[in-house]
Amino acid sequence: QRADWLVRALGRAGVLPRAEAEQALREGRVEVDGRVETEPFAPVHAGSVVRVDGQLRTLEARTLALMFHKPAGVVVHGSDPEGIGTVFERLRAVLAPELRGYEWYAVGRLDRDTTGLLLFTNEERLVAHATSPETHVSKRYVAEVEGTPSEAALQRLREGLVLEDGPTRPAGARLLAPSQVELMLTEGRHHQVKRMLAAVGHPVKTLHREAVGELTLDVPEGTYRQLTDAEIAQGL
Ligand code: URA
Repeated sequence: QRADWLVRALGRAGVLPRAEAEQALREGRVEVDGRVETEPFAPVHAGSVVRVDGQLRTLEARTLALMFHKPAGVVVHGSDPEGIGTVFERLRAVLAPELRGYEWYAVGRLDRDTTGLLLFTNEERLVAHATSPETHVSKRYVAEVEGTPSEAALQRLREGLVLEDGPTRPAGARLLAPSQVELMLTEGRHHQVKRMLAAVGHPVKTLHREAVGELTLDVPEGTYRQLTDAEIAQGL
C-alpha cells in the first residue's frame, strides 16, 4: 500500500481540504491509529485508521475530476489558497457538499482574462502528468483579435513561429469570422496564444478555451460538472 502524507491523503479522500486539515491537526482533532497526530506530513496509508473529531474516516482515495467553465476576472493558482478573486473561490461557491472535502488542483493555467474550459482534479499526480511538456494534449482556443489575419498569417501559426522561448510546435489555425481565430495547440507555454497571435500582427482582444483533448466545454459560465471515469481515463 502506497504511503502518503496525512494532509494530502485527507484531501485526496475527500475528508478535509488541505487548509482545513492543517487547522484540524493544529487543534488536535485528528487521530491516526489511536493517537492524536499533529504533524501534517506524517506518513499514512489506505489502511490507517483515521478519526476526525472522533468520527472514523476512510482514507480510500478516488480519482475525481471536474470540468469548470472559468469566467473572466479570476486568477488560477495551482492549488487551493482560498484567496479572494481566485478560481478556487468561484469553484467552492458552486461545489456540491459531497465534493467540498476534497483538495482540488487546477490542471494547467488560464490567464485572468481568459474564459473557458479548466479541469480540476483531486489527484495531484495527474496534474504533473497532464501539464508536463512531454504530454501533447491538444487544446482548442477561440480568440477575438485585432484586424483580420491573412492566409499567410494563419500559415505561420500552423507551421510554427519563433517566440522568445523558442519555436512553437505545428498548430491548427483557421478563421471562424473575420476577427475570430480558432487555434489548436499541443503545448501550453505562458501566454502562448496571445504571444503567437501578437507575433503575426493580430493582438488578442478576448480569449476562450473551448476544448482540452477529447473534452469539449459543455457547461455554462461559472458552473462545473464532474467527469465520468471514462472521461478521466481518456482525458487526463
Ligand atoms: N494562451 C494564452 O495566451 N492565455 C491563456 O490563458 C491560455 C493560453
